[in-house]
Amino acid sequence: MWAVSPCIHICLALSSSPLTLRDLDELGLERIKGIGEKSKKALESFGIRSVLDLLETYPRRYIDRSNMATLSTMELGVESLVMVRVVQSKSMRTKNGRVMVTVTVGDDTGKMSLTFFNQAWREKQLQPGMEVAVFGKPEMYRNYLQMTNPIVDRVGNQTGRIVPVYPQSAKDNISSWDLAKWIEDALSKCAPRGIADIVPPEILQQHNLISRGDAMRWIHAPESMEQHVQARRRLAFDEVLRVQLMLVGRKKQWELESAGFEHTTSGAHFEQFFASLPFPLTGAQQRVIAEIYKDLMSPQPMHRLLQGDVGAGKTLVAVATMLAAVISGHQAALMAPTEVLADQHAIGIRSLLSELRVRFDDTTLFGDSGLRIELLTNKVKGQQRKDILAGIADGAVDIAIGTHALIQDKVSFKSLGVVVVDEQHRFGVQQRSRLRDKAQESEQGLMPDVLVMTATPIPRTAAMTVYGDLDVSVLDELPPGRTPIVTTWVNNENDVESMWSDIRARLNEGQQAYVVCPLIEESEKLEVASAQETFDKLMYDDLKGYTVGLLHGRMSSAEKEDIMSSFRAGTTQVLVATTVIEVGVDVPNSTSMVILDSGRFGIAQLHQLRGRVGRGALSSFCYLVTQSDEPSPRVEALVASTDGFVLAEEDLKLRGEGTIMGTFQKGQSDLTLASLQRDLDLIQWAREDALTIINNDPALQGHPLLRDELELSFNQQDEEFLFKS
Ligand code: ADP
Ligand code: MG
Repeated sequence: MWAVSPCIHICLALSSSPLTLRDLDELGLERIKGIGEKSKKALESFGIRSVLDLLETYPRRYIDRSNMATLSTMELGVESLVMVRVVQSKSMRTKNGRVMVTVTVGDDTGKMSLTFFNQAWREKQLQPGMEVAVFGKPEMYRNYLQMTNPIVDRVGNQTGRIVPVYPQSAKDNISSWDLAKWIEDALSKCAPRGIADIVPPEILQQHNLISRGDAMRWIHAPESMEQHVQARRRLAFDEVLRVQLMLVGRKKQWELESAGFEHTTSGAHFEQFFASLPFPLTGAQQRVIAEIYKDLMSPQPMHRLLQGDVGAGKTLVAVATMLAAVISGHQAALMAPTEVLADQHAIGIRSLLSELRVRFDDTTLFGDSGLRIELLTNKVKGQQRKDILAGIADGAVDIAIGTHALIQDKVSFKSLGVVVVDEQHRFGVQQRSRLRDKAQESEQGLMPDVLVMTATPIPRTAAMTVYGDLDVSVLDELPPGRTPIVTTWVNNENDVESMWSDIRARLNEGQQAYVVCPLIEESEKLEVASAQETFDKLMYDDLKGYTVGLLHGRMSSAEKEDIMSSFRAGTTQVLVATTVIEVGVDVPNSTSMVILDSGRFGIAQLHQLRGRVGRGALSSFCYLVTQSDEPSPRVEALVASTDGFVLAEEDLKLRGEGTIMGTFQKGQSDLTLASLQRDLDLIQWAREDALTIINNDPALQGHPLLRDELELSFNQQDEEFLFKS
């Protein structure tokens, strides 16, 4: 029973129904045996405020006593885990003034000494008689067994074969053992009412998952590692199910709340457009365009993510999408992350649409005409800007290309039917609200269809989680005739010499090259300085006699545009640049890519940079230059594969999911036990289950427990999009 308190009496009297997470969240820590004011404060500093928080503090590992070494069986020099008792602990100062704490420990088979440097608090922490688990490398020192700075967990004399090890804090003096005791008390107090299960039994059965009550007990006190595996899977499923319900619910809400355009996607203009292309569509482009056109024809606004590796031909898909809005008598906007890219898109898109002549019924007076495509960036000023804004407002501009300012500023469209967002991670919920505002300003008040394009493939599980409120199309085929990029790791002077001589040979044949300067994240100023230095050095040394251009983030738009257009025209042979060229730049005659100090870049960035070459029929080469004697795992990954999806999986492995999820919106990083790497099956099931549940019951009216749990789990901002009725 819970400790006596009026509230609990009332609660228990009113209901003996199983405890929900909300019930547990409302129970204060003072109800737990052994938690006084001081521990309560300490727990709060850990973010543990309620019984729910306590129960959701999961062990970070387990010690299986049945296959554990003893002091006499440990092998010298091999990392081992032993369970021992503290005999004595003392502290002294070494000759050079460092604090050294020596702790003698023992088990039934012998004794060992633990030596800690600069950890004075260990003397107080490790009291005689205390049971601790010690992990480290045993050595012989003066004929005595010793470990230096081992990991020590105060696990206490817990019974049971498997001992949970909780995250513990030395500062607040909360041990793994304290947490274990408190959690045990909490679990025993929950036992009479039991823990409510929010997942319908048929779903649990289908996926072979155990009940939430068992899972909660077994995650903390498993009797076997098998029980732990079962418990983790069940609780991880709950985490991903909540996330999917939130995302799918939000998506459904958008669909129900907003009315969209029913665009035309067939007819003479489309035939003319596709026939005018200089190449046939790839199979993947055909499939993806079909998926998009299906969305465009339906009255529900589209929210689709297009994932495609660098060079897969996303621009064409974007143009085909925007064309549908224009042919249907509306407008389209394309947003690029930088002005250089907006520029380039304007050039590319104008050329793809240059042969198209449209004849709208009400403009027959003027005969056939080409589309009006305008570029709106910061460098468009004065009268020209006014004209473009006026054209956007009265519908004369068919396609507007620009940076994010297109939907943020005082740009008002007459009838914005399609928005394409290129190479953009940050197009989140807020941007979509802004779009909705735009829609309300326009004549029909309809939501535009949105296509978000990303050239940084992300693993399937991450896509489902991070972009779970979008539909996803994948462009997984490169246009034919590409020759694979030969990637080499370059780290010594000889290799660097022959790299430059190979590049000069290619320049002599009329090809072009990029040189990417070291990344300096802390300061753009330093980065520019280093780019300038690289440029100067190359001009007078390895690339003497060639035309070399320099491009960096601190140049004015006009300067950047000049340099890019001279590089596009082939007048400039080598472009020395900071990462401004990372995304999208498309000059098929460039066949060499040198990335200096490449160890500083992440996998996705390196892959993007490399994708600037290998765009034509000529063989291309990428050189990853580093100073170190060993290639980093990232450089190795790049040398081994040119497939963005393979690299994305590799990246997830190397970086861990925290970093990946951390870069996306909050709320969705609510995964503690679930792993994007391990739990592909759980995530897929959760997505399917969430779809079934939400499609049958969009506001979760028939699932009050589920609904309540979502409200508890997600913050205000997420919630706004949840189940508003
Ligand atoms: P990304 O997906 O990286 O944005 P782009 O749209 O820039 O790729 O296309 C890369 C290059 O491939 C461009 O030069 C483009 O003209 C060309 N391309 C696109 N689709 C095809 C196709 N179906 N066949 C041949 N070349 C194509
Ligand atoms: Mg592109």
